[in-house]
Amino acid sequence: MTNSPALQSSKARRFHLRVFGCQMNIYDGELIRASFLNRGWTETDDPEKAEACLFHTCSVRQRAEEKVHSLLGELRERKRRDPGLVVGVIGCMADREGRELFEREPHVDIVCGSRHFPRIPDMVARVLGGEERILALGESEVPVDAPVRDLGGRPSHWQAHVAVMRGCDMNCTFCVVPRVRGRVESRPPHEILDEVRRLVDSGTTEVHLLGQTIDAYGRDLPKEGRPSLALLLDLLADVEGLHRVRLITLHPSYVDEELADAMARSPQFLRFLPVPLQSGSDSVLRRMKRGYTMDLYRRRVAILQDRMPDLELVSDWIVGFPGETDVDFEASVAALREFKFLQSYVFQYSPRPETVAFELEDDVPAQLKRRRNIRLLEVQREIAKGRTRKMVGTASSLILEEPASQGGWKGRIHNGHFAIVDVEDGAPGRLVKARMEGWNGKELLATR
Ligand code: SF4
Repeated sequence: MTNSPALQSSKARRFHLRVFGCQMNIYDGELIRASFLNRGWTETDDPEKAEACLFHTCSVRQRAEEKVHSLLGELRERKRRDPGLVVGVIGCMADREGRELFEREPHVDIVCGSRHFPRIPDMVARVLGGEERILALGESEVPVDAPVRDLGGRPSHWQAHVAVMRGCDMNCTFCVVPRVRGRVESRPPHEILDEVRRLVDSGTTEVHLLGQTIDAYGRDLPKEGRPSLALLLDLLADVEGLHRVRLITLHPSYVDEELADAMARSPQFLRFLPVPLQSGSDSVLRRMKRGYTMDLYRRRVAILQDRMPDLELVSDWIVGFPGETDVDFEASVAALREFKFLQSYVFQYSPRPETVAFELEDDVPAQLKRRRNIRLLEVQREIAKGRTRKMVGTASSLILEEPASQGGWKGRIHNGHFAIVDVEDGAPGRLVKARMEGWNGKELLATR
């Protein structure tokens, strides 16, 4: 007799899923989870108890890949003891490393690319049935997103991710996404609308629409009757019970008047918008092949701010890109001050194999990258404080997220600032109107 989890009956089958990376991966993780639960599997946090250990991976940073290799290493001994264990690598790392993963990690059974993960339960079943080494990479004949999304893998009832498109048509020199995730593939608007309606019916009040360059939504679809992100926002405006729509992430090149108008008239659009600038230096932007100059970025932001003066912007930054001088870096600091971003995500450049920038000399010392990172975040903190303080005296809607430790409830107001409101009988996802009466140095203090 053996106690091997891998040899237990199908009733007791358990999967262990670790998800790394961006919101899109988290969303995909929900889809993967739902597809296993539907087939009668149960989820376990403990890889030792699982028949199938799956990693939904990210290749954007080296550290995330190293972590997956280390977790895979921990499973090597387990697989020796229990050959029936199924080990699968899904997503960007599978796309990037491909067949080599089998060589580096011989105990891996499945290498499944970003466009193939909906078939992962079948692949696991095939391995359990005796098949060896399944490799599924590149484009898929069927769209990644099913026409009807299974909502069974969602952790939170009031907030939900919804992918509206996959892939990216840009070619930023530092980024592996276009190589691993492929070209833009937009979902038809009726599918998205249906998914949002079903989410709202199940208690969701806030959706986060996801796409690598979400403002490119629809550009891959036939010209006649081509939908756009502006159209999507208009369609969602009619969904009763949907309080908020958040967009993640835009590319400055696709911002136009039509989109800005739709955002401005949407009653649900969260005016807290990620439009990553990455660098304030034209020469760095050129080497990054971002597809815009500072001047173009300025003009696109002006289109948005003209319609929504209370819009708050969020940026990603890369510090220490090859060839970034002190002058280039100071241009980023100046840009941060100019656009007064409310939030910044700062990354220290690290070369990623299979990107164009990998060929450039990584010539900014690690210590200098760290110093630039710290400096940018210091400036960001100072700017954010000033912007939040300025909201005192305004009125806004607020979606409650969680009870605040000092009493009342914490939530975000219409343009992304956090506030604590004097509500005692709150519930996550509830919409309240409030007036910003003060500021505690971090959050706004609001009363109803
Ligand atoms: S826009 Fe650039 S950084 Fe963003 S996913 Fe596409 S290639 Fe990568």
